[in-house]
Amino acid sequence: MAVTRTFSIIKPDATRRNLTGAVTAMLEDAGLRVVASKRIHMTREQAEGFYAVHRERPFFSELVDFMISAPVVVQVLEGEDAVKRNRDVMGATNPADAAEGTIRKTYAESIEANSVHGSDSDENAAIEIAFFFKPEEIVG
Ligand code: GDP
Repeated sequence: MAVTRTFSIIKPDATRRNLTGAVTAMLEDAGLRVVASKRIHMTREQAEGFYAVHRERPFFSELVDFMISAPVVVQVLEGEDAVKRNRDVMGATNPADAAEGTIRKTYAESIEANSVHGSDSDENAAIEIAFFFKPEEIVG
């Protein structure tokens, strides 16, 4: 299995509850290595740009308001089959549907305030990483 990278966000509901370390520990325990990390407070323009694919969805403006409501931690994660590995440990979008032992089952508050973002494909991972990080900020 190839070592690949994915993009993660520890969302405002988690940073607000001081869960940055707890969430990161679950990512690390799942076999992912944090090769870049920074805490930022997203601007509205950044959040709208990042979630542009969801622009037509009914919850878009609520989602943007949520993502700029507190700081987030953006990370690049590296590991074998990183996108799938991360999606597996994140759990389903709605915490009510998430499996035991996943981050969202353990920590998410709601379908919106669901503690983490993770890229859904290698292609989107590359786009999302480049949205927030310069190559020299990623140290593998
Ligand atoms: P993900 O890939 O599991 O994060 O899910 P999606 O790509 O479908 O949705 C992106 C994000 O939008 C989710 O992580 C949630 O924060 C939010 N979201 C998804 N569905 C809903 C919804 O029905 N209502 C609201 N308010 N937010 C949602």
